[in-house]
Amino acid sequence: MNTNDSQARMEAIVSLCKRRGFIFASSEIYGGFSGVYDYGHYGTLLLNNVKNAWQKSIAQERMDVVLLDSAIFMHPMAWKASGHVDGFNDPQIDCKKCKSRFRADHLLEGFGINADKQPLEFINQELDKLRADKKLACPNCSSADVTEAKVFSLMVKSNLGSPTDALSEENVVYLRPETCGGIYLEYKNTIDSLHPKLPFGIAQIGKAFRNEIVAKQFVFRTREFEQMEMQYFHHPSQTGDIFEGWHKDRWNFYLDYGIPENKLNWFKHEKLAHYASDAYDIEYNYAMLGGFKEMEGIHARGDFDLTQHSKFSGTDLSYFDEATKERFVPHIVETSVGVARMTLAFIDNAYTEEIVNDETRVVLKFDKRLSPVKVAVLPLSKKEELSGPAKEIWKTLSKKFFVEYDDTQSIGKRYRRQDEIGTPYCVTVDFDTLTDNAVTVRDRDTMEQVRVPIADLVKYFSENLAI
Ligand code: ATP
Repeated sequence: MNTNDSQARMEAIVSLCKRRGFIFASSEIYGGFSGVYDYGHYGTLLLNNVKNAWQKSIAQERMDVVLLDSAIFMHPMAWKASGHVDGFNDPQIDCKKCKSRFRADHLLEGFGINADKQPLEFINQELDKLRADKKLACPNCSSADVTEAKVFSLMVKSNLGSPTDALSEENVVYLRPETCGGIYLEYKNTIDSLHPKLPFGIAQIGKAFRNEIVAKQFVFRTREFEQMEMQYFHHPSQTGDIFEGWHKDRWNFYLDYGIPENKLNWFKHEKLAHYASDAYDIEYNYAMLGGFKEMEGIHARGDFDLTQHSKFSGTDLSYFDEATKERFVPHIVETSVGVARMTLAFIDNAYTEEIVNDETRVVLKFDKRLSPVKVAVLPLSKKEELSGPAKEIWKTLSKKFFVEYDDTQSIGKRYRRQDEIGTPYCVTVDFDTLTDNAVTVRDRDTMEQVRVPIADLVKYFSENLAI
């Protein structure tokens, strides 16, 4: 897909998300607040379904993973121990002419130079070469007057307990940049309270904050976001098999929820983050962003985390294996994905434009389990004789899942509205309903219609929605 196509697709999706109440740019009435988004009614439902799908596959359907919900604030020393205070940076460059700010590694990527997690020295050498060749130009205004790269910390600071003081070294606390930090700090309490045997995992969903230099590409990269992370603790001899097992599981998760295999790709990191011993990303081909981009990371972290937290806290986090009588610091394989980044992939994959009767039909063809609303009940007339039974049907079905009731405008327009938010089924209540006690059920994808007795609707939808 060329740039124009991906731009057009991006604009269509951003517009649909706003118009239909999925995703809003934050603080719009104040002129906006860059890199932060709010989720409307359908967006909230969609995010919840995505999170439930993840939790189901990662914890509910496994015997060896438990859940956690740890706080955003943690002891500041924890981020010293993890290396984030000193090392969680991106290389920043500025255009002196238009004052735009960029990530130097992303700019170099545009020239085919892989500068991911490379030291500043390497990045500045590469920038100098481009400058000498007169190729270096601001991506915004094309000026060659671009600074050299400098370190930009991604950590978001706050203060607790001394609200009138300016941030000082003593009272600074951090908004967590990733959720896994809380998992390491609660590893010991989890072992002591639930007594899981190794290998086992702890999974959690929660907010994370990063002072991203450039937050763009809609909700792909934002400054406040939710992560879904799982840390799998194990004996070092098991790392290879466990790493491979999680590779398969996470890949299959996306296939199960309707992402075709040709839109997924493995990316192996050559240059590793300070904690990692091996790292792969699952990339998704975001048509709206013009190509493959990181969606989820799967990393072997070795014993870095528990060793560091043992050292900095003075608490022994080693594990004693009763069977082998061996004491060791568990190694970790992690899976980590942003809720919005995964949701955006599902939206991008679902977004379809079709010509039906010479008109463009926009449909979000989500896997039915992810659809925000499962069924829409549409009486053909607002008159009590139809609205009465229609509301009864709504009441019965809404005990099981989110159901919408819509009696405004023509039936065709109501179908299109439901297609746009990805509702798998529409139920039409018509005058025949009064005599045959049945309704017409329309399928979102095939647009085929079948007559189903009212008494069978709960069973019919439970089976077809797989919930
Ligand atoms: P990137 O290279 O895109 O900056 P990263 O390699 O720093 O990402 P990780 O630290 O491995 O990302 O984070 C794990 C996952 O969290 C990512 O794969 C992504 O899904 C999500 N994520 C990270 N940063 C953001 C962000 N700023 N906005 C939305 N999701 C994010």
